[in-house]
Amino acid sequence: MNVVGSVRSTGVDARREVPVNIEQVRADFPILAQRPHGKKLVYLDSAATTQKPRQVIEALTEYYSGYNANIHRGIHFLSEKATAAYEAGRGKAQRFLGADAAEEIVFVRGTTEGINLVANTFARTRLQAGDEVLITGMEHHSNIVPWQMLCEQTGALLRHVPLNDQGEASLDEFKRLLSPRTRFASIVHISNALGTINPVHEMIQAAKSASVPVLVDGAQAAAHVSVNVKELDCDFYCLSGHKLYGPTGIGVLYGKREHLEAMPPYQGGGEMISSVTFEKTTYNRVPHKFEAGTPNIAGVIGLGAAIDYVSELGLERIAAHENRLLAYALEKVASVPGVRFLGAPRERASIVSFSMDGVHPHDMGTILDREGIAIRAGHHCAQPVMERFGIPATARASFGVYNTTEEVDDLVRGLSRVKELLG
Ligand code: PMP
Repeated sequence: MNVVGSVRSTGVDARREVPVNIEQVRADFPILAQRPHGKKLVYLDSAATTQKPRQVIEALTEYYSGYNANIHRGIHFLSEKATAAYEAGRGKAQRFLGADAAEEIVFVRGTTEGINLVANTFARTRLQAGDEVLITGMEHHSNIVPWQMLCEQTGALLRHVPLNDQGEASLDEFKRLLSPRTRFASIVHISNALGTINPVHEMIQAAKSASVPVLVDGAQAAAHVSVNVKELDCDFYCLSGHKLYGPTGIGVLYGKREHLEAMPPYQGGGEMISSVTFEKTTYNRVPHKFEAGTPNIAGVIGLGAAIDYVSELGLERIAAHENRLLAYALEKVASVPGVRFLGAPRERASIVSFSMDGVHPHDMGTILDREGIAIRAGHHCAQPVMERFGIPATARASFGVYNTTEEVDDLVRGLSRVKELLG
C-alpha cells in the first residue's frame, strides 16, 4: 500500500515486521461475539463504519460515569478534568496528523461537516462567477454536493477529473484540468466506492504550483495509511472518527493556521466568541472560533482513545495486515463464477467493489446477511462512479484490522451460495 507521509513514531519499522496479533485484536472488539441470525458475525463493512474496541467504549463510559461536565467555562473539578481530556484529544489528533499546532485541529461532526465548513468559509470568500472548483470523478457525495451548492450560489463551475477504466483519476488529467480559473481543489484520498488511493501528494504539488489551495477528504484514509499533513502540504484535511475505530458524530478538520485565522466563522453561538454586545461580537481565537456550542466532548475523548489504539498497533502493521487480506480477497472472490470487480486501481486500499451477473447487489447483500456476513450494497454515496461504469449499484466488502482470511473464505462460500440460488 502506498503510505503517504512519513512514518510518525520511532520503532515502527521494527514493529512492521511483527504481524498484528489477530486473536488479541479480535478480543478487543466485543461486538464480534454477536451472532446475527444465529451465525457467527463476519463484519465486512468497515468502510461504512468501523467497529469499536473496548478501549474506546471504556473511555466513553469513564467520561460519562466519572467526569461528565461542560468544558472551558467551568471552574469546578469535573469541568477542569473534562476540559483537560477534551484538549488532550486535540493534541492526539494533532500528532496523529503531523500538524504543527493543536490550534490547527478543529473538531467537527465528521468529514461531511469539515468539507461544508471549508466550502462555506474559506472557499466562499474566494469564488466569483466563472471561477472553478476541481474535484475527481470518484468523490463521495459529501465532496460533491457542498461544492455544487456553493457553485450555484456564486456562479462558479464544478469540474471533475474523469476516471479511467481502472477507476483511477490520473495525475496528468488533474494537471490538465487545473486552469487559470481554478480557485480550489477538493480531492478524496481513498475512494470508498473503488478503494483507489489517489496520488494526493503529487496532486497537491501540482495544485500548489498553480497557487490552488487543496482540501483532502481523508474519510477512508485515516485508518489505513499514515498521513502527515505537513509533508502532504495540503491546506485542509478531513476525517471521521467513526471510520477510525472511534465514535460517530466526531471528526477532525485540519487547516493551516494562517487559513483558519483568516477565515470567517462557520456557525455563531457560545464558545466561538470572545465578547458579545448587541452592537458587535468579537470572535474567539482558533480553533475555538469554529467550535460553536457545546461540542461532542465524549466524542473527542473516544476519538482520542481510538487514535491511541491505532497508534499502539501501528498503522504500518494495520496496513500490512489489510493488504494481505485484500490480495487474498481479490484472488478468492474472482474465483466465484460471474463475479466482476468495479475498477482495478494499481494503488488500492482494502475495499473491494463487485457485482455478480444476473444478481442485484441488494439480493446478494440480503442472502449474505442470513449467513451472518455484513457487506454493503448500493451506490455507496458515489452515484457518479456508478454512472461512469454504467451500473446502478455494487456489492462492497471492506476490511478492518479485525478481519481474517477465514472471513474472506466465509464471504466466498456465501457468494457461491448466492450464485446457486440466484445466478
Ligand atoms: N468521504 C468519503 C470518501 C467517505 O467514504 C465518507 C463516508 N462514507 C464521507 C466522505 C462522509 O463521511 P461522514 O459521513 O462520516 O461525514
